[in-house]
Amino acid sequence: MRHDVIVIGGGLSGLSAAVDLASRGIPVLVLEQRRHLGGRTSSFTDDQTGDVIDNGQHLMMGCYKETRRLLRTIGTDHLASLQPNLHIDFLHPEKGFSVLSCPPLPAPLHVLWGLLGLRSLSLRDRSRLLKVGLELQKDPLNMESRLKALTVDEWLTRLGQSAENKKYLWDIIAIGSLNDDPKKVSALLFYRILRAAFLGSRENSAMLVPNAGLSELFVEPSVRYLRSRGSDVLTGCGVGRLVLEGDRVTAVQCSDGVTRDARAFISAVPAHALLPLLEQSVRHSERSACPPFGFFGGRREESESATTALRSLLESVRRFESSPIITIYLWFDRPIIDSEFVALLDSPVQWIFNRTKILRLKHDARQFLSLVISGAAEYVEKDKEKIVSMALDALRNALPAARQSSIVHSLVIKEKRATFSPTPVVETLRPATETGIENLFLAGDWTDTGYPATIEGAVMSGRVAADRVAASVC
Ligand SMILES: Cc1cc2nc3c(=O)[nH]c(=O)nc-3n(C[C@H](O)[C@H](O)[C@H](O)COP(=O)(O)OP(=O)(O)OC[C@H]3O[C@@H](n4cnc5c(N)ncnc54)[C@H](O)[C@@H]3O)c2cc1C
Repeated sequence: MRHDVIVIGGGLSGLSAAVDLASRGIPVLVLEQRRHLGGRTSSFTDDQTGDVIDNGQHLMMGCYKETRRLLRTIGTDHLASLQPNLHIDFLHPEKGFSVLSCPPLPAPLHVLWGLLGLRSLSLRDRSRLLKVGLELQKDPLNMESRLKALTVDEWLTRLGQSAENKKYLWDIIAIGSLNDDPKKVSALLFYRILRAAFLGSRENSAMLVPNAGLSELFVEPSVRYLRSRGSDVLTGCGVGRLVLEGDRVTAVQCSDGVTRDARAFISAVPAHALLPLLEQSVRHSERSACPPFGFFGGRREESESATTALRSLLESVRRFESSPIITIYLWFDRPIIDSEFVALLDSPVQWIFNRTKILRLKHDARQFLSLVISGAAEYVEKDKEKIVSMALDALRNALPAARQSSIVHSLVIKEKRATFSPTPVVETLRPATETGIENLFLAGDWTDTGYPATIEGAVMSGRVAADRVAASVC
């Protein structure tokens, strides 16, 4: 069956675009190079324990409006639970637990109240947090232009935030959401996240916790939705090249040797995967635009405009760099924490997730945890055994109950290209949905979503690309 639209890449952005188009009655074919769909949000079953493992632990927020809309569309919103009010436990190896617990007051008063009660910071430092709060309330247009060239750390320093405020609060949020060193990443993106989470409605700031593996939450229901509406997905089918004709893309050349055509195309692959695809497409188009007898017709000029558009996209794509995330899955012979998740302070591990509790597993006495190291460039080349031992030291340092426990099983997942590194310079290079080729559109967490590389950015980019495609094919 011929589909109107081809989506290249079966991660969240591609699935979100496809689901949106299918919901409008536009048939889509999703082409995914791997054997499984989901990209950076996918799951598998651990052979030894039978437990579901995600490629990395994920956490969402109430302000993920597009994601929540997608979950409602595919019928799995019941598999993610939204906290009634923002609540995060912080654990310091010496000072023990402290809590950011926001009462049911109107936003942003609820966060203000919660932050003032955060006992991991001195009273003086807590009062300094107000400066950030006041900054968030200022005219956004003016703020956006002031923050463009700054890093998170530079902005926080200008706002008089102490070393403790940075280390025990802001850096945890910044590394968790922007996935790189606060000294490198864009203050503008951090400001937008804080505004999205802390202003607006109270539920925006609450955590949205997946109670199922990511494939069950996003991928399998999306595929069911697509197939029930005349759309389809093909795995193990990578796209090697875009076929340009005139000023349009007419088809894609696939790894199975088949050339597949459609009326419109959405690229939903990350920057590092788009690079070879664009290079191949440009090279091929340049070769075929040089006819042996030097005939230069109108078609050539048209196809040159498409090639020029791809070349200019290539220039930006080349400048994106990736930042890793390591997730360490540990099974203990006994329970060692009670909270659903905890931010770990003064430790290489930033977060502990209690998967037994989050996934509502009916384990025997065991407890299944996932530990997250974001912005993990420093650790990503280490042996997995060393990473497990470092994580265990961090846990035993902070949690007395971990000292008596033994590890039953462990698994380390290194995602070397977890997200792009959102520096202020890269922020100016993120491409729009439109490519300059009228039937080729871009989606992906790295495109110009206004947010860092997140589930919400990916889902939003897919929905926006679907909007543009719908306008162009209808
Ligand atoms: C370990 C980890 C933890 C994270 N934690 C969080 C979190 O807590 N909260 C949050 O909001 N976000 C988190 N993220 C980010 C989030 O997972 C991503 O932003 C999102 O999944 C990106 O989706 P995407 O569709 O843009 O890209 P991808 O998921 O990378 O999808 C792209 C797809 O395209 C395919 N592809 C590539 N090239 C081709 C080709 N030539 N032909 C066909 N297919 C191709 C790939 O195989 C892939 O399936 C995390 C990411 C990681 C890795």
